[in-house]
Amino acid sequence: MRVGLFGGTFNPVHVAHLRAAEEVRELRALDRVEFVLSAIPPHKSEATIAAVDHRRHMLDLAVADHAAFTVNTSEVDRPGRSYSIDTIGAAQAQAPDARFTFVLGADAFAEIESWKRFDEIFTRCDVCVLSRPGVSVDRPPIAMENAFCYDSDRRVYAHASGNALVFLPITPLVISASDIRQRCAAGRSIRYLVPREVENYIHAHGLYAGRIAAS
Ligand code: ATP
Repeated sequence: MRVGLFGGTFNPVHVAHLRAAEEVRELRALDRVEFVLSAIPPHKSEATIAAVDHRRHMLDLAVADHAAFTVNTSEVDRPGRSYSIDTIGAAQAQAPDARFTFVLGADAFAEIESWKRFDEIFTRCDVCVLSRPGVSVDRPPIAMENAFCYDSDRRVYAHASGNALVFLPITPLVISASDIRQRCAAGRSIRYLVPREVENYIHAHGLYAGRIAAS
């Protein structure tokens, strides 16, 4: 069983998240992609983060029609701040026979050296970095360069642990949650940027509509 862990604030989940997950599922032959909802994102302190229950509901709606997509709420269920290394450990403890790939966009990867015990992530599992318009990153973190060597046959960076670091070009979609929030606040359409069910949920609950949603 090959499982991808795709973390995010999902504030809200949008079609670029879903397409990215679908492409990594297909290209890396993953059996399942778990969307890991970040409860209290260590890297985002904006006051515009919708309540975790809203973000969870929107994720549930967004993945409902894909048999290989699930929502992982371990960071929501764990008290305190959320760190990816703890999430990976918890997922591996629950499914010891699975092979895990930690999936993130290039913008998130560009900041990985500020994450708690980030070097351990590469020791624990494969890492797949998805291309994102406007961000060019295609090398291991500078502080860890010596832990990797480039495997030109597989076109991956092989970590000393045996795990792989892969840079995966995906269909470029210039869509972001912050742009969607801005459109909502301005009373503009978000149709086709998010699944229809998510759009309906946002409007039904008045999310991002020019006021700050409680978290
Ligand atoms: P915000 O605009 O609020 O910063 P976001 O659109 O980047 O949000 P997140 O929930 O922070 O969404 O992203 C979750 C993961 O999805 C991150 O690893 C991010 O890099 C990746 N991601 C988000 N949008 C895209 C995109 N358009 N293309 C590729 N990866 C993306």
